[in-house]
Amino acid sequence: MKNIYSNIYSFNEKVLKKTIKSLNLGNILSLPTETVYGLAGNAYSEKAIKKIFKLKKRPKKNPLIIHFFNLKNLKKDAILNNNFFKLYKKFCPGPITFILKKNERSKICPLATANLDTIAVRFPSHKIIRSILKLIKFPLAMPSANISSNLSPVNAADVYEEFKNKLEIIVEGGKSKIGIESTVVDLTSKPKILRPGIISSKEIKKYLKINFSKAGSKVKSPGMLKKHYSPGIPVRLHGKPKSLNHAYIIFGKKYKSKPNYFNLSKKGDLREAAANLYKIMRKIKNKGYKKIFVCKIPNLGPGIAINDRLERASK
Ligand code: AMP
Ligand code: MG
Repeated sequence: MKNIYSNIYSFNEKVLKKTIKSLNLGNILSLPTETVYGLAGNAYSEKAIKKIFKLKKRPKKNPLIIHFFNLKNLKKDAILNNNFFKLYKKFCPGPITFILKKNERSKICPLATANLDTIAVRFPSHKIIRSILKLIKFPLAMPSANISSNLSPVNAADVYEEFKNKLEIIVEGGKSKIGIESTVVDLTSKPKILRPGIISSKEIKKYLKINFSKAGSKVKSPGMLKKHYSPGIPVRLHGKPKSLNHAYIIFGKKYKSKPNYFNLSKKGDLREAAANLYKIMRKIKNKGYKKIFVCKIPNLGPGIAINDRLERASK
């Protein structure tokens, strides 16, 4: 059934078939995942990959994450190692992306991996995307469904706000439960966290005996932009609102409720705060506020990922 927006579809058997047909034709559409909504296309198709970069206005040097249904499918495209198996067993399917060496016989379009000899892979857990991956004969290249440097979308209406009718299909899959992008771990040599996420370095450390550089620190990922996750209005990490057209993002129960105060989690739960982050920033922008101030968020567990996103949003 169609939603009030002409291209947002609730998921059912008919939409599943329509989605698969569209992907088989090399088209791009938006699908829900547990992290954020993605812009999906056949990773083996040059036509599809070119469209993704064009739609997103994404710099060519920023490689895409490739999404798989299971290990059997992955083996054709990547070289697996012991560290990968340890983390796969514990966290997959789920909000974690691994950087692996690309298999020389891989059919992944080189543009999707920015001509690197490595590949970023993920096994998303959202049941809609899994039901699609199970039925198609190729993996999906799928960056977040937003114009490059904007906020990532966490529901179908956010995707519509980014692309309007440029997409044939946006599949409605409810609000993304995690609400921020996956943790990215480089496993091509000594493991490193390239992007912090809900699965924290502390959790990963339980399964891999390695030295981590502090999550979110200097380690570089190609195309990792300093300015990113931007709501389109200035974000200030210190200080408080000075007028009523400034919004204040707060966390925890010590704050009074005021019309321009937006609480990420009244009970002080960092997971809940991460899930609310983009939703609240988008709401603030759409309400017409001119600036966002943010209170201090504890820098531990999911807080590390929240602070990473806020830091970039403030650039
Ligand atoms: P996004 O698609 O916006 O979730 O971003 C994907 C992230 O994965 C980007 O920050 C990329 O830099 C990173 N990434 C993708 N492929 C690779 C790769 N082969 N090596 C290192 N980082 C990668
Ligand atoms: Mg993105």
